[in-house]
Amino acid sequence: MRLDKYLAHAQVGTRKEVKLLIRKKHVTVNGEIVIKDDVHIDEVHDVVCVDGEEIYYETMVYLMLNKPSGVISATVDEVHETVLDCIGAQLPKDCFPVGRLDIDTEGLLLITNDGKLSHFLLSPKHHVKKTYYVEMKNILSKEDIEILENGSIVLDEKVIKPAKVEVIDDYHCYLTIEEGRYHQVKRMMSAVGNEVLYLKRISMGSLRLDENLQTGEWRWLSEEEVQALK
Ligand code: URA
Repeated sequence: MRLDKYLAHAQVGTRKEVKLLIRKKHVTVNGEIVIKDDVHIDEVHDVVCVDGEEIYYETMVYLMLNKPSGVISATVDEVHETVLDCIGAQLPKDCFPVGRLDIDTEGLLLITNDGKLSHFLLSPKHHVKKTYYVEMKNILSKEDIEILENGSIVLDEKVIKPAKVEVIDDYHCYLTIEEGRYHQVKRMMSAVGNEVLYLKRISMGSLRLDENLQTGEWRWLSEEEVQALK
């Protein structure tokens, strides 16, 4: 990879800014000052420094968090703990949660710095399915299930796409939706006169929440899991 691309990718600055840094002799490669921005960098072996500080090449990272209740799906917040605070590892600066879960919702949250994948997963065009485990206040009747599944619920002045309900028992079900509207599951249940008491996301597209992860725990995605999502 070219030196200027390496530095820009590591968020040292824009391509224009890093070219200037190189020209002004702020950059060394393996201890030698380099003034050409098209010098080839071996991302694994070469040591690149700006003003003596080593710059690491940041590759894409992908992890799943079993989000606990009480933390917000944001990168920074002045009041609440964020989902990034749950990760006790040094992550690249540009990591973010893919989509949002409400503060009281638990379960699968993908965290990455892969903007392209995030865009793909969240775009309404791609109908990526999300499945939630839902605990309800009232019994879910056959009629309620029909309404949830036949796509007649209106949210945000639009008829939403049909959902899939898998009944566990009177008060529990799995609900699979294709959209990602604000409070969508809670508002769908409210539309059939019910109330969500507990909500947990268990899958997003091909990615399933690892059952070995306790609430608040996380793990890196395997290469297979990443490829299957794309
Ligand atoms: N639907 C909701 O109502 N809340 C969530 O957190 C996710 C989906």
